[in-house]
Amino acid sequence: TTLTDNDVAAASHEASVRRAREGAAAPIATPLDDARAQLAEAIALLGFSDGTHRLLATPRRELTVAVPLRTDSGETTLFTGYRVQHNFSRGPAKGGLRYAPNVDLDEVRALAMWMTWKCALLDVPYGGAKGGIAIDPRAHSTAELERVTRRYTSEILPIIGPERDIPAPDIGTDERTMAWMMDTYSVNSGYTVPGIVTGKPIALGGSLGRASATSRGVTHIALAALRHAGLEPARSSAAVQGFGKVGADTARFLAEAGVRVRAVSDQYGAVANDGGLDVEALIAHVRETGSVVGFAEADELDRDAVLTADVDLLVPAAVEGVLHEANAADVRAKVVVEGANGPTTPAADRILREQGVLVVPDILANAGGVIVSYFEWVQANQAYWWRADEVESRLEERMLNAWEHVLGYAGARGLSLRTAATALAVERVAEAHRLRGLYP
Ligand code: GLU
Repeated sequence: TTLTDNDVAAASHEASVRRAREGAAAPIATPLDDARAQLAEAIALLGFSDGTHRLLATPRRELTVAVPLRTDSGETTLFTGYRVQHNFSRGPAKGGLRYAPNVDLDEVRALAMWMTWKCALLDVPYGGAKGGIAIDPRAHSTAELERVTRRYTSEILPIIGPERDIPAPDIGTDERTMAWMMDTYSVNSGYTVPGIVTGKPIALGGSLGRASATSRGVTHIALAALRHAGLEPARSSAAVQGFGKVGADTARFLAEAGVRVRAVSDQYGAVANDGGLDVEALIAHVRETGSVVGFAEADELDRDAVLTADVDLLVPAAVEGVLHEANAADVRAKVVVEGANGPTTPAADRILREQGVLVVPDILANAGGVIVSYFEWVQANQAYWWRADEVESRLEERMLNAWEHVLGYAGARGLSLRTAATALAVERVAEAHRLRGLYP
């Protein structure tokens, strides 16, 4: 079972803090601004035309839907849902579904664009997409969430499909959500379609190793990045921001690899232990209480102090924009590995680079999830299931190949890992566009 995500409400808080710090007078930078700035840098480096730039900056298709819900008490209420398909050039669109109160179209557009680059960089034969509903999942019963999920699925039915667009879990959704989506789609098709979503329960054709895949991938990259920075993992320390689907298992795998995990946070607070947290015990505490706060074998810490903790490795594993202009200079880690999508703003990226911090970008570091999603889709399409060790070794091989590739490209050109990774991905997508030609 996956842990429930603790980081949902943190998103709107982070965004407002960031706005306040970066000055209310300045236009508010959204994740979409950040994603577009990263794309613009890659386009300039590659020397691509304005037309290609605009093509890649703009989603191919966007759908906004009203999602009415009959609540358990019998009232009718309404939510807004989105599905954005950023690109299809290399295959069906692919990306998660987010349930969070602050979800809006621009955030979903940014997340969809990042999915395109992630899939291209890891050479997974997909384009990019993302979905979301502006809803706080913790404010609703299981029955209400099921009705919302089924209605949303039914509203986006015309544009999804195993050959069109394949949803998966993201913040606020899990394997249960995917089971409801799969069932709704299948009932409408008249037969079972396991390839319509990934991140399903194992009993419904989910892949072994999918639930922990993002965290495993983050850990492979984190260990490689520490070594690259001249730090031996067994003598290194780490802080993990976010203790949901990505953060908790990342902390566990890092600890298993001998890294001292000194501080972790969720949206409610943070805990620290200089000698290293007992991550297994902490996960058990979170399962019981719903938060890291109150864990007996640790000291309480200010929630956001985790980002500037005195550690070798920082893994932001919650939401966008947590490392920004106002706090980047205070980061003491030598290596930042992005478990979340978009946790570092372009301004923070510049500051960290000047400080000599090695930042491993999201589209590389957290790609383990979509890699095993791809494996799940392949298994579903062939109706033939792999062993856990087969999934895990193929995941590791793909992650480490991509790491070497990005490192080599960045080193040869004197680029940051983010610029290198984005440029490599954009080049692949543009190549697919060029080879296919423009219709009509
Ligand atoms: N939501 C995850 C991500 O951001 C996984 C997407 C997928 O597996 O399709 O990468």
